[in-house]
Amino acid sequence: MIGSTRTATAPGGSVMTDPFGRAINYLRVSITDRCDLRCVYCMSEDMTFLPRADLLTLEELGRLCSAFIAKGVKKLRLTGGEPLVRRNMMSLVRSLSRHLQTGALNELTLTTNGSQLERYAAELADCGIRRINVSLDTLDPAKFRAITRWGDLGKVLSGIDAARKAGLAVKINAVALKNVNEDEIPSLMEWAHGAGMALTLIEVMPLGEIGEGRIDQYVPLSLLRARLASHYTLIDLDDNSGGPARYVRVSETGGKLGFITPMTHNFCESCNRVRVTCTGTLHTCLGHEDAADLRRPLRASESDDLLSAAIDRAIGLKPKGHDFIIDRQHNRPSVSRHMSVTGG
Ligand code: SAM
Repeated sequence: MIGSTRTATAPGGSVMTDPFGRAINYLRVSITDRCDLRCVYCMSEDMTFLPRADLLTLEELGRLCSAFIAKGVKKLRLTGGEPLVRRNMMSLVRSLSRHLQTGALNELTLTTNGSQLERYAAELADCGIRRINVSLDTLDPAKFRAITRWGDLGKVLSGIDAARKAGLAVKINAVALKNVNEDEIPSLMEWAHGAGMALTLIEVMPLGEIGEGRIDQYVPLSLLRARLASHYTLIDLDDNSGGPARYVRVSETGGKLGFITPMTHNFCESCNRVRVTCTGTLHTCLGHEDAADLRRPLRASESDDLLSAAIDRAIGLKPKGHDFIIDRQHNRPSVSRHMSVTGG
């Protein structure tokens, strides 16, 4: 019955199942809404951030993540905002890494803009992180500055180098932006594949007010894929990293190219994910305004019983899917939350 999903104990451990029979085993946690960049499609320039007092402490975030792991989450991604700008965030990573050692968690990973990676890469690897996603939309320094409003491409490239030297596998994520980087996709791909990194392209989504319409940013990946296919041989791959991307192998480069297409083809039928914000709000769908407060049950008791029940209730209400639309009639946010709040 919807609203009353329970965590079941199966031979491999606990499993959370939503009303549509989807096992929920992937948690993304935004550990801060703050970021050191202001990407034009993500935030407005004068973005207001949450008062620090509203944020869960790192200890609370650790407890929250551990409660999800006890309920069957196997893959945990820290994100933001920019996760590496939260002060002392490595203490959270180190504490969560114990779940890798016990085998309760299969993967602990991170999505980052790369600006702070030079400083943290070695320590992340030391904590058992094996692969990370770095968001990078262009290799042109001036364009990078324009997209991020003030970012320094050199710092990100040094961060990527440091990550690879530390033994981390790096996947590059690029949001496809009309008239901005769409022509650069082949060279971005050649660069990534040449360095042994996969590249995933993402369609821009109508999330949050950004001070301009989305229609000028949005380019469907079906179009970019067709353009690539006229120059490269794209071979569909079956492998699924547990996320929303669909992959091809590019014969000419030997590398992997992913497509995340929330606009042209949603991937809700295989959704295994939920997201928690830095204030402890659980969102069971990126494309809905649904929200469950976990901060109150977390703080109400030292035991995790109330928290666990609140998680079950929310998963029992996980929507079947979402449909984003960007066109001239729908040039406003579908969801008021910015990606930096929900966690990408
Ligand atoms: N700061 C980190 C980073 O840059 O990867 C993590 C957070 S960021 C919000 C996560 C991802 O969301 C980035 O790849 C970013 O490009 C993407 N993103 C942000 N807003 C988006 C939007 N409206 N549509 C599609 N992707 C978006």
